[in-house]
Amino acid sequence: MAYLGNPTNTVAVLNTYGFRFQKKYGQNFLIDSNILENIVDAAGVTKDDMVLEIGPGIGTLTQYLAERARQVVAVEIDDNLIPILQHTLSEYDNVTVIHNDVLKVDLKALADEKNGGKPIKVVANLPYYITTPIIMELLEKGVPFESLTVMVQKEVADRMQSGPGSKDYGALSLAVQYYTEPCVKLEVSPNCFMPRPNVGSSVIRLTNKKDNRVSVKNEEMLFRVIRAAFNQRRKTLANALSNASNLSCNRNDVVDALLKMGLSESIRGEVLTLEQFALLTDLLG
Ligand code: SAM
Repeated sequence: MAYLGNPTNTVAVLNTYGFRFQKKYGQNFLIDSNILENIVDAAGVTKDDMVLEIGPGIGTLTQYLAERARQVVAVEIDDNLIPILQHTLSEYDNVTVIHNDVLKVDLKALADEKNGGKPIKVVANLPYYITTPIIMELLEKGVPFESLTVMVQKEVADRMQSGPGSKDYGALSLAVQYYTEPCVKLEVSPNCFMPRPNVGSSVIRLTNKKDNRVSVKNEEMLFRVIRAAFNQRRKTLANALSNASNLSCNRNDVVDALLKMGLSESIRGEVLTLEQFALLTDLLG
């Protein structure tokens, strides 16, 4: 049975190994067993699942996942945590720890190898300093996943869910909403972590839309258009897109496309829906 997830046992493990938290790795370990159970519930983990965990720390969430999943693969960067994980996970024969920077691991190949190409579930209390690169890697690199259930900074969860016109709306919102259906499952207080982070946290579940995505002819171009629109957020869309070096369109092309869509030539990207960005991309393409 999982024995981590409370302050006493966490401190005992940390003291045994003389472990020192490294701020640069975004280390805030969970110390609340209710929250841990709730995360695994929110992810809907069953004995059929292969779960990828990013950043197992001392193995707290890993223990809860190992109890419910068929197999858990956990990727941890910090050398000092590897001997600790060997100890805290020794009772679980369904856990594999990979010692590496997750951004250097070919996650698609890993999922294919360990789960025969079937969709995996990703469950993690993410290191906050690289939340966006990790999410983008999972979304854009064709990793076969059913859902990503991740603890992130509350503000980042808000950005993932926000829509046109909101100050939080941007390239991350559109990428998340293109590939997945986002749903916040839990709000988590700083008191549930050791050490306490300075920000509130949320657990958000991103369920893969698979074949139900907005239709667009050139997906890669859609994201070039979106990035260009939000890189120069204060400019009109026509100016932002015609200034972008990786889009070969002139201002007139963009204005023509906007007028065909019934939009004003002075409109800004921040008010367009995902469907409108897709149509604009098709017209420009
Ligand atoms: N899962 C543990 C828990 O909930 O208690 C720890 C979560 S802690 C917020 C983030 C973890 O990610 C740390 O263990 C940290 O060392 C690890 N980490 C940070 N950067 C990483 C990277 N680039 N690749 C893999 N793991 C990383």
